[in-house]
Amino acid sequence: MQFSEIPGLQELKKQLVSAHKRGKVAHAQLFAGRPGTAVLPMALAYATYLMCESKIEDDSCGSCPNCVRIKKLVHPDIHLHFPKVSAAENKYEKVLADAIPRFREFVMESPFGDLEAWTRKYGQENKNILISREDSRQMLKNVSMRSVEGGYKILLIWIPELMNPSSANAILKILEEPPEKTLYLLVSYNYDNLLATITSRTQLVNVPPNTEAEVKNYLIEQGVNEPEAEQAAKLSEGKIGLGLHLASAGESQEYEDFQKWMLECWNKNLTGLVQRSEDFSKSGKAAQKNTLNYAIALMRNAVVHASGQTPPVQSDSEKIFIGKFADKLGLGRLEKTYALTNEALIHLERNSNPRITHLNLSLDIIRVLNG
Ligand SMILES: [Zn+2]
Repeated sequence: MQFSEIPGLQELKKQLVSAHKRGKVAHAQLFAGRPGTAVLPMALAYATYLMCESKIEDDSCGSCPNCVRIKKLVHPDIHLHFPKVSAAENKYEKVLADAIPRFREFVMESPFGDLEAWTRKYGQENKNILISREDSRQMLKNVSMRSVEGGYKILLIWIPELMNPSSANAILKILEEPPEKTLYLLVSYNYDNLLATITSRTQLVNVPPNTEAEVKNYLIEQGVNEPEAEQAAKLSEGKIGLGLHLASAGESQEYEDFQKWMLECWNKNLTGLVQRSEDFSKSGKAAQKNTLNYAIALMRNAVVHASGQTPPVQSDSEKIFIGKFADKLGLGRLEKTYALTNEALIHLERNSNPRITHLNLSLDIIRVLNG
Protein backbone atom coordinates (compact mmCIF):
# COMPACT_ATOMS: atom_id res chain seq x y z
CA MET A 1 0.00 0.00 0.00
CA GLN A 2 1.31 3.44 -0.93
CA PHE A 3 0.02 6.79 0.32
CA SER A 4 -1.01 7.55 -3.25
CA GLU A 5 -3.49 4.64 -3.19
CA ILE A 6 -5.45 6.29 -0.36
CA PRO A 7 -7.71 9.14 -1.48
CA GLY A 8 -7.31 12.54 0.18
CA LEU A 9 -6.07 12.96 3.78
CA GLN A 10 -3.06 14.92 2.49
CA GLU A 11 -2.43 16.70 5.77
CA LEU A 12 -2.04 13.45 7.68
CA LYS A 13 0.17 11.87 5.01
CA LYS A 14 2.41 14.95 5.13
CA GLN A 15 2.67 14.71 8.93
CA LEU A 16 3.69 11.06 8.80
CA VAL A 17 6.31 11.65 6.11
CA SER A 18 7.69 14.69 7.85
CA ALA A 19 8.05 12.84 11.18
CA HIS A 20 10.31 10.38 9.38
CA LYS A 21 12.31 13.10 7.63
CA ARG A 22 12.92 14.83 10.95
CA GLY A 23 13.97 11.54 12.55
CA LYS A 24 10.99 11.73 14.93
CA VAL A 25 9.26 8.41 14.37
CA ALA A 26 7.52 7.49 17.63
CA HIS A 27 8.09 3.84 18.49
CA ALA A 28 4.46 3.15 19.39
CA GLN A 29 1.70 4.78 17.37
CA LEU A 30 -2.02 4.31 17.59
CA PHE A 31 -3.82 4.80 14.26
CA ALA A 32 -7.42 5.48 15.21
CA GLY A 33 -10.56 6.11 13.21
CA ARG A 34 -14.04 4.75 12.51
CA PRO A 35 -14.57 1.33 10.90
CA GLY A 36 -14.59 1.64 7.11
CA THR A 37 -12.23 4.62 7.06
CA ALA A 38 -8.63 4.53 5.89
CA VAL A 39 -7.12 3.58 9.26
CA LEU A 40 -5.53 0.29 8.22
CA PRO A 41 -4.52 1.50 4.72
CA MET A 42 -2.82 4.50 6.34
CA ALA A 43 -0.85 2.34 8.79
CA LEU A 44 0.16 0.01 5.96
CA ALA A 45 1.20 2.88 3.69
CA TYR A 46 3.23 4.30 6.56
CA ALA A 47 4.94 0.97 7.27
CA THR A 48 5.72 0.62 3.57
CA TYR A 49 7.12 4.14 3.43
CA LEU A 50 9.38 3.53 6.44
CA MET A 51 10.72 0.27 5.01
CA CYS A 52 11.01 1.40 1.37
CA GLU A 53 14.56 1.29 0.03
CA SER A 54 14.11 4.00 -2.59
CA LYS A 55 11.58 6.48 -1.23
CA ILE A 56 10.29 9.13 -3.57
CA GLU A 57 9.49 12.65 -2.35
CA ASP A 58 6.41 11.89 -0.23
CA ASP A 59 5.76 8.22 -0.70
CA SER A 60 7.25 4.76 -0.99
CA CYS A 61 8.45 3.70 -4.45
CA GLY A 62 6.04 0.77 -4.75
CA SER A 63 8.52 -1.43 -6.58
CA CYS A 64 11.61 -2.16 -4.45
CA PRO A 65 11.80 -5.63 -2.86
CA ASN A 66 10.56 -4.27 0.48
CA CYS A 67 7.56 -2.51 -1.09
CA VAL A 68 6.66 -5.62 -3.05
CA ARG A 69 6.86 -7.90 -0.02
CA ILE A 70 4.87 -5.56 2.19
CA LYS A 71 2.20 -5.31 -0.47
CA LYS A 72 1.80 -9.08 -0.23
CA LEU A 73 2.18 -8.89 3.57
CA VAL A 74 5.05 -11.34 3.51
CA HIS A 75 7.90 -9.14 4.70
CA PRO A 76 9.80 -11.06 7.41
CA ASP A 77 10.19 -7.96 9.57
CA ILE A 78 6.52 -7.03 9.59
CA HIS A 79 4.59 -9.07 12.10
CA LEU A 80 0.81 -9.07 11.86
CA HIS A 81 -1.31 -9.48 14.96
CA PHE A 82 -5.06 -9.55 14.57
CA PRO A 83 -8.18 -11.06 16.16
CA LYS A 84 -8.70 -14.76 15.64
CA VAL A 85 -10.34 -17.66 17.43
CA SER A 86 -8.75 -18.38 20.72
CA ALA A 87 -6.82 -21.62 21.13
CA ALA A 88 -5.02 -23.55 23.82
CA GLU A 89 -1.25 -23.29 23.71
CA ASN A 90 -0.77 -26.59 21.88
CA LYS A 91 -3.31 -25.67 19.18
CA TYR A 92 -2.08 -22.14 18.64
CA GLU A 93 0.33 -22.88 15.78
CA LYS A 94 -2.47 -24.53 13.86
CA VAL A 95 -4.88 -21.62 14.39
CA LEU A 96 -2.17 -19.22 13.30
CA ALA A 97 -1.26 -21.21 10.19
CA ASP A 98 -4.92 -21.26 9.20
CA ALA A 99 -5.63 -17.59 9.93
CA ILE A 100 -2.57 -15.84 8.49
CA PRO A 101 -3.07 -16.62 4.77
CA ARG A 102 -6.75 -15.66 5.08
CA PHE A 103 -5.88 -12.45 6.82
CA ARG A 104 -3.33 -11.55 4.12
CA GLU A 105 -5.96 -12.16 1.46
CA PHE A 106 -8.50 -10.13 3.39
CA VAL A 107 -6.22 -7.11 3.73
CA MET A 108 -5.20 -7.24 0.07
CA GLU A 109 -8.80 -7.54 -1.11
CA SER A 110 -10.45 -5.16 1.32
CA PRO A 111 -8.07 -2.90 3.23
CA PHE A 112 -11.06 -0.73 4.19
CA GLY A 113 -12.85 -3.76 5.61
CA ASP A 114 -13.83 -3.88 9.26
CA LEU A 115 -14.07 -6.61 11.85
CA GLU A 116 -17.33 -7.93 10.38
CA ALA A 117 -15.79 -8.21 6.94
CA TRP A 118 -12.83 -10.06 8.44
CA THR A 119 -15.00 -12.56 10.34
CA ARG A 120 -16.88 -13.28 7.10
CA LYS A 121 -13.64 -13.85 5.22
CA TYR A 122 -12.27 -15.91 8.11
CA GLY A 123 -15.44 -18.00 8.16
CA GLN A 124 -15.90 -17.52 11.91
CA GLU A 125 -18.96 -15.31 11.97
CA ASN A 126 -20.50 -16.84 15.03
CA LYS A 127 -17.35 -17.29 17.05
CA ASN A 128 -15.92 -14.85 19.49
CA ILE A 129 -12.64 -13.70 18.03
CA LEU A 130 -9.97 -11.80 19.90
CA ILE A 131 -6.29 -11.17 20.40
CA SER A 132 -5.56 -13.83 22.94
CA ARG A 133 -2.91 -14.46 25.56
CA GLU A 134 -1.19 -16.77 23.12
CA ASP A 135 -1.08 -13.90 20.62
CA SER A 136 0.58 -11.65 23.15
CA ARG A 137 3.15 -14.37 23.86
CA GLN A 138 3.80 -14.45 20.13
CA MET A 139 4.24 -10.66 20.16
CA LEU A 140 6.82 -10.92 22.92
CA LYS A 141 8.63 -13.55 20.89
CA ASN A 142 8.60 -11.36 17.78
CA VAL A 143 9.95 -8.44 19.75
CA SER A 144 12.80 -10.45 21.21
CA MET A 145 13.95 -11.67 17.78
CA ARG A 146 16.42 -9.61 15.80
CA SER A 147 15.13 -7.94 12.67
CA VAL A 148 15.83 -10.33 9.80
CA GLU A 149 17.14 -7.68 7.44
CA GLY A 150 18.74 -5.27 9.85
CA GLY A 151 16.20 -2.46 9.34
CA TYR A 152 13.03 -1.66 11.24
CA LYS A 153 10.99 -4.42 12.77
CA ILE A 154 7.30 -3.55 12.80
CA LEU A 155 4.52 -5.13 14.84
CA LEU A 156 1.19 -4.22 13.34
CA ILE A 157 -1.63 -4.87 15.79
CA TRP A 158 -5.03 -4.68 14.14
CA ILE A 159 -7.92 -3.91 16.53
CA PRO A 160 -5.98 -3.82 19.81
CA GLU A 161 -9.27 -3.17 21.63
CA LEU A 162 -9.93 -6.88 21.13
CA MET A 163 -6.96 -7.85 23.29
CA ASN A 164 -8.20 -9.40 26.45
CA PRO A 165 -6.90 -7.52 29.51
CA SER A 166 -4.28 -10.09 30.37
CA SER A 167 -2.79 -10.02 26.87
CA ALA A 168 -2.94 -6.23 26.89
CA ASN A 169 -1.07 -6.14 30.20
CA ALA A 170 1.47 -8.59 28.89
CA ILE A 171 2.60 -6.17 26.19
CA LEU A 172 2.73 -3.00 28.29
CA LYS A 173 6.36 -3.48 29.12
CA ILE A 174 7.44 -3.90 25.49
CA LEU A 175 5.36 -0.87 24.50
CA GLU A 176 7.24 1.16 27.03
CA GLU A 177 10.74 -0.12 26.49
CA PRO A 178 11.03 -1.39 22.95
CA PRO A 179 14.30 -2.73 21.62
CA GLU A 180 15.97 -0.45 19.11
CA LYS A 181 14.36 -0.06 15.69
CA THR A 182 11.19 -1.81 16.82
CA LEU A 183 7.94 -0.06 15.96
CA TYR A 184 4.42 -0.79 17.09
CA LEU A 185 1.59 0.33 14.87
CA LEU A 186 -1.77 -0.20 16.56
CA VAL A 187 -4.82 0.14 14.32
CA SER A 188 -7.95 0.84 16.30
CA TYR A 189 -11.61 1.48 15.46
CA ASN A 190 -12.77 2.04 18.97
CA TYR A 191 -10.11 3.95 20.70
CA ASP A 192 -12.32 4.57 23.77
CA ASN A 193 -12.40 0.85 24.52
CA LEU A 194 -8.64 0.61 24.80
CA LEU A 195 -7.04 0.42 28.20
CA ALA A 196 -5.68 3.77 29.32
CA THR A 197 -2.43 2.00 30.08
CA ILE A 198 -2.12 1.29 26.33
CA THR A 199 -3.22 4.67 25.00
CA SER A 200 -0.93 6.52 27.38
CA ARG A 201 2.04 4.63 25.95
CA THR A 202 1.26 5.35 22.32
CA GLN A 203 1.20 8.41 20.11
CA LEU A 204 -2.25 9.01 18.64
CA VAL A 205 -2.55 9.25 14.87
CA ASN A 206 -6.11 10.31 14.18
CA VAL A 207 -7.36 9.12 10.77
CA PRO A 208 -10.43 11.18 9.79
CA PRO A 209 -13.13 10.10 7.34
CA ASN A 210 -12.78 11.00 3.67
CA THR A 211 -14.89 13.65 1.98
CA GLU A 212 -18.01 12.58 0.10
CA ALA A 213 -16.38 13.52 -3.21
CA GLU A 214 -13.32 11.38 -2.40
CA VAL A 215 -15.50 8.38 -1.58
CA LYS A 216 -17.47 8.88 -4.78
CA ASN A 217 -14.35 9.09 -6.96
CA TYR A 218 -12.85 6.08 -5.25
CA LEU A 219 -15.99 4.03 -5.93
CA ILE A 220 -15.97 5.09 -9.58
CA GLU A 221 -12.32 4.04 -9.84
CA GLN A 222 -13.39 0.66 -8.46
CA GLY A 223 -15.87 0.27 -11.32
CA VAL A 224 -19.09 1.47 -9.64
CA ASN A 225 -21.26 3.51 -12.04
CA GLU A 226 -21.65 7.19 -11.30
CA PRO A 227 -25.23 7.45 -9.99
CA GLU A 228 -24.70 4.48 -7.68
CA ALA A 229 -21.33 5.83 -6.54
CA GLU A 230 -22.93 9.17 -5.78
CA GLN A 231 -25.72 7.62 -3.77
CA ALA A 232 -23.42 5.28 -1.83
CA ALA A 233 -20.99 8.15 -1.13
CA LYS A 234 -23.81 10.29 0.29
CA LEU A 235 -24.76 7.57 2.76
CA SER A 236 -21.17 6.56 3.52
CA GLU A 237 -20.33 9.20 6.17
CA GLY A 238 -16.90 9.41 4.56
CA LYS A 239 -16.20 5.73 5.16
CA ILE A 240 -14.90 4.15 1.99
CA GLY A 241 -15.57 0.67 3.38
CA LEU A 242 -19.24 1.51 3.96
CA GLY A 243 -19.46 3.15 0.52
CA LEU A 244 -18.13 -0.01 -1.11
CA HIS A 245 -20.57 -2.11 0.85
CA LEU A 246 -23.57 0.05 -0.04
CA ALA A 247 -22.57 0.17 -3.70
CA SER A 248 -22.19 -3.60 -3.93
CA ALA A 249 -25.21 -4.54 -1.82
CA GLY A 250 -27.54 -2.47 -3.99
CA GLU A 251 -30.80 -1.33 -2.54
CA SER A 252 -33.28 -4.07 -3.22
CA GLN A 253 -33.08 -6.79 -0.54
CA GLU A 254 -32.11 -4.56 2.36
CA TYR A 255 -34.64 -1.93 1.41
CA GLU A 256 -37.52 -4.38 1.08
CA ASP A 257 -36.64 -5.99 4.35
CA PHE A 258 -36.59 -2.69 6.19
CA GLN A 259 -39.92 -1.67 4.69
CA LYS A 260 -41.56 -4.95 5.75
CA TRP A 261 -40.15 -4.65 9.24
CA MET A 262 -41.50 -1.14 9.75
CA LEU A 263 -44.90 -2.25 8.45
CA GLU A 264 -44.94 -5.12 10.93
CA CYS A 265 -44.24 -2.63 13.72
CA TRP A 266 -46.91 -0.27 12.44
CA ASN A 267 -49.47 -3.09 12.27
CA LYS A 268 -48.34 -4.60 15.61
CA ASN A 269 -47.81 -7.89 13.83
CA LEU A 270 -46.26 -9.76 16.77
CA THR A 271 -46.11 -13.14 15.04
CA GLY A 272 -44.21 -11.57 12.17
CA LEU A 273 -41.89 -9.69 14.52
CA VAL A 274 -41.07 -12.76 16.62
CA GLN A 275 -40.24 -14.67 13.43
CA ARG A 276 -38.18 -11.72 12.21
CA SER A 277 -36.08 -11.63 15.40
CA GLU A 278 -35.60 -15.40 15.04
CA ASP A 279 -34.33 -14.99 11.46
CA PHE A 280 -32.22 -12.05 12.55
CA SER A 281 -30.48 -14.10 15.24
CA LYS A 282 -29.64 -16.82 12.72
CA SER A 283 -28.17 -14.46 10.15
CA GLY A 284 -24.65 -14.15 11.62
CA LYS A 285 -23.11 -11.19 13.36
CA ALA A 286 -21.97 -9.33 10.26
CA ALA A 287 -25.40 -9.53 8.62
CA GLN A 288 -27.06 -8.44 11.85
CA LYS A 289 -24.96 -5.31 12.04
CA ASN A 290 -25.56 -4.59 8.38
CA THR A 291 -29.31 -4.83 8.89
CA LEU A 292 -29.23 -2.32 11.73
CA ASN A 293 -26.75 -0.03 10.00
CA TYR A 294 -28.95 0.09 6.93
CA ALA A 295 -32.03 0.84 9.06
CA ILE A 296 -30.10 3.60 10.83
CA ALA A 297 -29.06 5.14 7.49
CA LEU A 298 -32.67 5.20 6.23
CA MET A 299 -34.04 6.51 9.53
CA ARG A 300 -31.44 9.27 9.52
CA ASN A 301 -32.64 10.26 6.07
CA ALA A 302 -36.23 10.27 7.28
CA VAL A 303 -35.21 12.55 10.17
CA VAL A 304 -33.55 14.88 7.68
CA HIS A 305 -36.66 14.84 5.49
CA ALA A 306 -38.94 15.51 8.47
CA SER A 307 -36.81 18.49 9.50
CA GLY A 308 -37.66 20.04 6.18
CA GLN A 309 -34.26 19.45 4.57
CA THR A 310 -33.39 17.41 1.54
CA PRO A 311 -31.91 14.03 2.46
CA PRO A 312 -28.98 12.71 0.44
CA VAL A 313 -29.93 11.17 -2.89
CA GLN A 314 -31.58 7.77 -2.62
CA SER A 315 -33.09 5.41 -5.10
CA ASP A 316 -36.58 6.42 -6.25
CA SER A 317 -38.31 3.74 -4.21
CA GLU A 318 -36.38 4.70 -1.07
CA LYS A 319 -37.18 8.36 -1.68
CA ILE A 320 -40.91 7.67 -1.82
CA PHE A 321 -40.83 5.41 1.22
CA ILE A 322 -38.74 7.82 3.30
CA GLY A 323 -41.12 10.65 2.42
CA LYS A 324 -44.18 8.62 3.45
CA PHE A 325 -42.49 7.21 6.54
CA ALA A 326 -41.37 10.67 7.67
CA ASP A 327 -44.78 12.25 7.06
CA LYS A 328 -46.58 9.49 8.91
CA LEU A 329 -44.33 9.50 11.99
CA GLY A 330 -43.30 13.12 12.32
CA LEU A 331 -39.95 14.36 13.55
CA GLY A 332 -40.31 13.52 17.27
CA ARG A 333 -41.20 9.87 16.78
CA LEU A 334 -38.61 9.47 14.04
CA GLU A 335 -35.86 10.78 16.26
CA LYS A 336 -36.86 8.34 19.00
CA THR A 337 -36.93 5.42 16.56
CA TYR A 338 -33.54 6.42 15.22
CA ALA A 339 -32.07 6.66 18.74
CA LEU A 340 -33.51 3.28 19.75
CA THR A 341 -32.03 1.57 16.70
CA ASN A 342 -28.63 3.12 17.41
CA GLU A 343 -28.85 1.85 20.97
CA ALA A 344 -29.74 -1.63 19.78
CA LEU A 345 -26.66 -1.62 17.55
CA ILE A 346 -24.48 -0.67 20.51
CA HIS A 347 -25.97 -3.51 22.59
CA LEU A 348 -25.32 -5.90 19.74
CA GLU A 349 -21.72 -4.76 19.48
CA ARG A 350 -21.39 -5.53 23.18
CA ASN A 351 -22.56 -9.06 22.47
CA SER A 352 -26.14 -8.87 23.66
CA ASN A 353 -28.45 -11.70 22.61
CA PRO A 354 -29.38 -10.84 19.00
CA ARG A 355 -32.88 -12.34 19.11
CA ILE A 356 -33.86 -10.51 22.29
CA THR A 357 -32.19 -7.28 21.16
CA HIS A 358 -34.08 -7.28 17.88
CA LEU A 359 -37.42 -8.19 19.43
CA ASN A 360 -37.02 -5.55 22.15
CA LEU A 361 -36.22 -2.98 19.50
CA SER A 362 -39.37 -3.89 17.56
CA LEU A 363 -41.48 -3.63 20.72
CA ASP A 364 -39.89 -0.27 21.59
CA ILE A 365 -40.61 0.96 18.07
CA ILE A 366 -44.25 -0.13 18.40
CA ARG A 367 -44.47 1.88 21.62
CA VAL A 368 -43.02 4.93 19.90
CA LEU A 369 -45.37 4.59 16.92
CA ASN A 370 -48.33 4.46 19.27
CA GLY A 371 -47.03 7.14 21.60
ZN1 LIG B 1 10.08 0.87 -2.19
